[in-house]
Amino acid sequence: MHLKSLTVKGFKSFASATTLRLEPGITCVVGPNGSGKSNVVDAISWVLGEQGAKALRGGKMEDVIFAGTAGRAPLGRAEVTLTIDNTDGALPIDYTEVSITRRMFRSGESEYEINGNQCRLLDIQELLSDSGIGREMHVIVGQGRLDGVLHARPEDRRSFIEEAAGVLKHRKRKEKAIRK
Ligand code: ATP
Ligand code: MG
Repeated sequence: MHLKSLTVKGFKSFASATTLRLEPGITCVVGPNGSGKSNVVDAISWVLGEQGAKALRGGKMEDVIFAGTAGRAPLGRAEVTLTIDNTDGALPIDYTEVSITRRMFRSGESEYEINGNQCRLLDIQELLSDSGIGREMHVIVGQGRLDGVLHARPEDRRSFIEEAAGVLKHRKRKEKAIRK
């Protein structure tokens, strides 16, 4: 399973529909400050169901909709589609390619789709729940966060790694069991 492509339209600085093709392996996005690199990562968090405006570096959720520039009027909705290659069947759905879409209007209403069929956010969360990607997973390390990890005290760094590896919850359960 790997991310195949990301299409953003009306999302943050991406007014026109823009598609990024992602190949297996490492993808680097390069560009000057303020050109929208972090917005690409925000788009991935958002389409996977992120509900917190702060996690998307905004004040309110509406801030994800293209707000306009000197030469271009604001838009009324944001739309992001993430296409995942599922040829290995990692996602429990009978498709070799799975597209997840989220659309949001200025009213605050969000719509979700799996392969073009309208669904609930819960359906997307369930689809991704055992895949290692999703909103609650520590798969997205934000700008500045890496510095935080590198400069953390060894015990804090250890707990970060344990959390990412999924060990922390077991350790907490063990500690709780011992206390009883
Ligand atoms: P850096 O190298 O400094 O980290 P970056 O490439 O990660 O920069 P981003 O933070 O992704 O840059 O993009 C910031 C740009 O996105 C700013 O110019 C900001 O005005 C623009 N932007 C953010 N939200 C919106 C919006 N809703 N409408 C229009 N533009 C937006
Ligand atoms: Mg950035």
